[in-house]
Amino acid sequence: MAHFKDNITADSLAERALFHLKYSRGKDLRSATTFDKMMCFSHVVRDMAVDGFIATQRQYLDTDVRRVNYLSMEYLIGKMLANNVVALGIVNESREALKQLDITVEEILELDVEAGLGNGGLGRLAACYLDSLATMELPAYGYGIRYEHGIFRQEFENGWQKERPDEWLALGYPWELVRPEYTLPVCVYGRVKKNFQPGKGASDVWEDFQVFEAVPFDVPIIGYGVNTVNMLRLWKSQPAEGFRLDVFNQGDYVRAVEEKNWAENVSKVLYPSDYTYAGKELRLIQEYFLASCSVRDIIRRYRKTHSDFTKFAEKNVVQLNDTHPTLAIVELMRVLHDEERIPWDKAWEITTSTFCYTNHTLLAEALEKWTVDLLQRVLPRHMQIIFEINHRFLQKVEINHPGEGELMRKVSLIEEGAHKQVRMANLCVIGSSKVNGVSALHSELLKTETMPEFDKVYPGKFTNVTNGITHRRWLIKANPELSELISDQIGEEWMKDLSKLEGFQDAASKRTVQKRFMEIKRAKKVELCETIKELTGYLVSPDSVFDVQIKRLHMYKRQLLKAMHIIHLYNTIKKNPKATVQSKTFIFAAKAAPAYLIAKSVIKLINTMAEVINNDVDVAGRLKVVFLPDYNVSLAEKIIPAADISEQISTAGLEASGTGNMKLSLNGALTVGTWDGANIEIAQHVGEDNIFIFGNRTEDLAVLRRKGYNPWSYVDKSEDLQAVLEAIRDNIFDRTQPDLFKDLYNEVTEHGDFYFYLADYEEYIKCNEEVDKLYAKPSKWAEKAILNVARMGWFSSDRSIQDYCNDIWYLERTPVDMTADIL
Ligand SMILES: *Cc1c(COP(=O)(O)O)cnc(C)c1O
Repeated sequence: MAHFKDNITADSLAERALFHLKYSRGKDLRSATTFDKMMCFSHVVRDMAVDGFIATQRQYLDTDVRRVNYLSMEYLIGKMLANNVVALGIVNESREALKQLDITVEEILELDVEAGLGNGGLGRLAACYLDSLATMELPAYGYGIRYEHGIFRQEFENGWQKERPDEWLALGYPWELVRPEYTLPVCVYGRVKKNFQPGKGASDVWEDFQVFEAVPFDVPIIGYGVNTVNMLRLWKSQPAEGFRLDVFNQGDYVRAVEEKNWAENVSKVLYPSDYTYAGKELRLIQEYFLASCSVRDIIRRYRKTHSDFTKFAEKNVVQLNDTHPTLAIVELMRVLHDEERIPWDKAWEITTSTFCYTNHTLLAEALEKWTVDLLQRVLPRHMQIIFEINHRFLQKVEINHPGEGELMRKVSLIEEGAHKQVRMANLCVIGSSKVNGVSALHSELLKTETMPEFDKVYPGKFTNVTNGITHRRWLIKANPELSELISDQIGEEWMKDLSKLEGFQDAASKRTVQKRFMEIKRAKKVELCETIKELTGYLVSPDSVFDVQIKRLHMYKRQLLKAMHIIHLYNTIKKNPKATVQSKTFIFAAKAAPAYLIAKSVIKLINTMAEVINNDVDVAGRLKVVFLPDYNVSLAEKIIPAADISEQISTAGLEASGTGNMKLSLNGALTVGTWDGANIEIAQHVGEDNIFIFGNRTEDLAVLRRKGYNPWSYVDKSEDLQAVLEAIRDNIFDRTQPDLFKDLYNEVTEHGDFYFYLADYEEYIKCNEEVDKLYAKPSKWAEKAILNVARMGWFSSDRSIQDYCNDIWYLERTPVDMTADIL
């Protein structure tokens, strides 16, 4: 099949780049900055994407395909240029073309813009899934919000996290296409009036609302080695044109400006708390903004080829990435019932056949519950619809489960109490045809522990799709050296189909391959040493073991447990400076939610430890601790290929899946992890001999909780643990501030150690000793690391998406024909 990159040469790329330099940037080669060159080259790549994009959209329209619409409040995309060049297969041509612009690929890639429209795993998953959907030639649309400020930039001031606004749009974003012609009005506030029409009965009319607007910005998502270019449509809020006029006509200038600001604020900033729910009014409006615009955009597209809604659910599936876009369910009901006059039961059938829901966490603090008061005020008609959905649902439950009051109370959309609340997860379950968790363990716990009543009411609705990662970004792009080694051994088929990676297993025992693998690992470590020096000033050795924990900072993820291990090693050396300890560099990177004070204390502790340990003459360089600031996708791409050890040490039952664990294992890091989330499936795939599993399992912790867990019982029997805890309690790292970390000490002792740090401490220390023993046998280590790489094929997001297609979406491949006349 013809491909839209056919006939692309280095010369034609250079020619187009010079064209854009002149007519998009208004520069000649002499005055052009590196940034100009990055922008104009990005435009060249975007032009190619646009050719595919137009052909793709036309193909979908002409064949009236079934489409998936992925709704997510977050997309943690990272930089796009390098990935797009790889996807289009123009790496060598680009390298040559850029020479003609007197610049290297590396120089311009460094200036590419990081799109950080997400907090962590959930947003990164959405980005990996878009990549897989396009590459697998599936008709897909991503919907999200074009936040003016994505996840904050993290700096350290005296070891403390300081948040700075992310200004990713300040110099222009080369990948987006604005579509003012698809602008939509959005309504909030107001009241509902009963309207009586003779002969037609009563209807509910939402009136006196305030209006603002949503403008879509489209980002092309280029499939790897295929013609498919899908779109990510991001909505930006703005004041409504007509509305502004109204106010001006009343002569109330100040109010006009206030209202204008209010509308602009809706897409102003990403909420930076990961897995915690704050109940803020502006956040509710943000969620409705995404839900409403996306639903109505899907309807507009459907209407191009359909005159009624009978085939709506056949032609569309809407996947909700967590409960954040739940209001889409209610919005579709409102449009179908109130605006399209479709009878309730029919509208509900269409709605529930259209939606599917992915649950991402069992943490109680993450559960979205909006108060009835707030919903009533912001979205009065939606609140009515929710009550009606609940009423009809509970009537049915009553018929099928008579007398089960407790069950009724649990499945109700409304949580009774002083302040009635709407449970968004319940609304998702009731309004969807399928509900999935994100790893085998998580899906099981969701079904049996968190929502067993719903499993009873809807047998068969709950299912699992284990998360995945795109190997195009996380191996081919991030680690071209390892990719080349793999291809030398087994050919290049694996790049298209990661399950083929298993062929690489045979190489694991070969000394020559082991040697090359370790050389590559060392080269990536040398590169990271340079980055560490730039970011922290610390000099670390590529000959030490790189022990990596990179993820959002959260007490359940237990960065503090890693810190306790480091303190244990430090104490060992201070007691006996001649003790043999494996030379190690501990690498952390993590942002804490700005209001999550105890998490911020963990950052301060690790930075404080770093300063002392890295300069201690007794340590003599054997231990180094670095906390790299501003963890984001680009930094992850630098750290992951250099990692020897991957720390995945969450409290069992609390990490829904994890995806960082997959990226690291795929790059040949050995996992030290608990029996949690996808760690379990990683262990099953790479083999339990090739992973370090330690600690209490979910069922063990359930027993401890039932018996009444007492952290002191572990303190009493371990002098080592006592010393570690005292180091934190008394802040031995900075005697001038002895009380600095009292809260951390209390967290794991006085306050009950909710996340079981002390229950897992001893096994964790022992497990790390096993790691050191293995590292002393380089050939064995290399073999296991290679086996990790070779056996991670199943964790490609292509496999996850295939699972979604088979079990949830029933979606088919739609290859795009480029030979058809574009005009
Ligand atoms: C993969 C990734 C995450 C998720 O990491 P976990 O270890 O699964 O929590 C978070 N942030 C970034 C930048 C990532 O690339």
